[in-house]
Amino acid sequence: MYLKQISYLSGEISAYLYIGEIFNMKTTLIIGAGGVGRVVVHKCVQNAGVFGRIVLASRNIESCINIKKELPDAEIFVTQLDADITGDVIKLIEKIDADIVINVALPYQDLTIMDACIATKTPYLDTANYEHPDEAKFEYKLQWARDEKFKEAGIMGLLGSGFDPGVTNVFCAFAQKHYFDTIDTIDIYDCNDGNNGYIFATNFNPEINLREVSAKGRYWDGGRWFETEPLQMKKVWDYPEIGKRDSYLMYHEEMESLTKNIKGLKQIKFYMTFTKAYLDHMHVLKNIGMLGIKEVEHKGQKIIPIELLKTLLPNPSTLGKRTKGKTNIGVVVTGMKNGKRKRIYIYQVSDHQKCYKEVNSQAISYTTGVPAMIGAKLMLEGKWSGLGVFNMEEFDPDPFMQELVSQGLPWKLKELEV
Ligand code: NDP
Repeated sequence: MYLKQISYLSGEISAYLYIGEIFNMKTTLIIGAGGVGRVVVHKCVQNAGVFGRIVLASRNIESCINIKKELPDAEIFVTQLDADITGDVIKLIEKIDADIVINVALPYQDLTIMDACIATKTPYLDTANYEHPDEAKFEYKLQWARDEKFKEAGIMGLLGSGFDPGVTNVFCAFAQKHYFDTIDTIDIYDCNDGNNGYIFATNFNPEINLREVSAKGRYWDGGRWFETEPLQMKKVWDYPEIGKRDSYLMYHEEMESLTKNIKGLKQIKFYMTFTKAYLDHMHVLKNIGMLGIKEVEHKGQKIIPIELLKTLLPNPSTLGKRTKGKTNIGVVVTGMKNGKRKRIYIYQVSDHQKCYKEVNSQAISYTTGVPAMIGAKLMLEGKWSGLGVFNMEEFDPDPFMQELVSQGLPWKLKELEV
């Protein structure tokens, strides 16, 4: 009882954790108490034998407390943290003696948290590419550049352990390991067929989501990148358990590492579905400047349009209860096996309401948070290990694929006609 009371108070954290030390428990630091953070906390609690004590830290302690209240029987410690300040992250990691840091804050915090992990020699995991707040461009360059420092610190960093990136990379590694001698093409298909009843709302952080969707498209073909206007290329794809949906070519971050790590890959494309209403709203918002990321002056105050829009839109973490329908995300891989051409489709279908019943969250956060937990679990168990900074496809996919089945994200594989 005493432990539960003090676990709300950041000043008492050492006392609480000291008691855990006696029992030689692991300490897992989760940074970011948003939609994905909620799922990660729930799933780590379900796997408490691996994750031990959970410390949830976020910019706003109220978000942490709300998640903690959903799990009254679990030993979760909550604290306020501004993860933009490397020194503050270092202090917290040292104070709690974290065994791993799961970063599910925003992509803007990736580098500060990685640097804190290097300074404290603590393993690191995230779900999204670093992006600078002032430039809508995500890439691995600055995270990969920390590879040497991770090696020198004797730690592992796992990048992009969400669904896409994340599970999609593991699907490709699984296809490579078991089904192909050489892979020629990869098409990634991402469909969220959920309906939350709002005319316009994003299923994860609106700022990150709208920056991604309104950016230029890009695909890899014959060893080089081709650029398209935003959502310029479209095709219809038939998603199992959902049906045929318009799917738009976009640039997506797993393509950067897959072109590097799947040897001999000739082409990779990424498609995502959007409803007409979503696209119409997005075009209007873009045309009138509401997606702008540069400061504008309004009545003597400086505001960033996309941040104001985020304030006005429904908070994604409140959508769980009202979102109905399914998601289907998968990869279609073609290549050669024993001299024959082959084509396979590996995909995962999730149901928004089923996810909500389990962890109070819709399927987008669920399908991101579960793989984040699995990546961290494999790291803590030593099943995925190494020194430096890694992408998901660089490890043996088998243990991850098994965990997906047992942790709530069962997948399917079917052979397609070539
Ligand atoms: P949310 O906006 O719901 O949550 C982000 C959380 O991070 C909030 O609790 C926020 O705190 C916290 N935060 C923001 N800035 C800071 C800071 N400086 N210091 C500490 N905490 C901070 O986003 P999601 O949960 O939807 O997404 C989380 C991450 O997952 C993002 O990086 C997103 O890009 C990624 N993602 C990855 C996917 C994949 O498949 N790979 C798919 C979906 C998302 P507060 O609320 O107090 O401001």
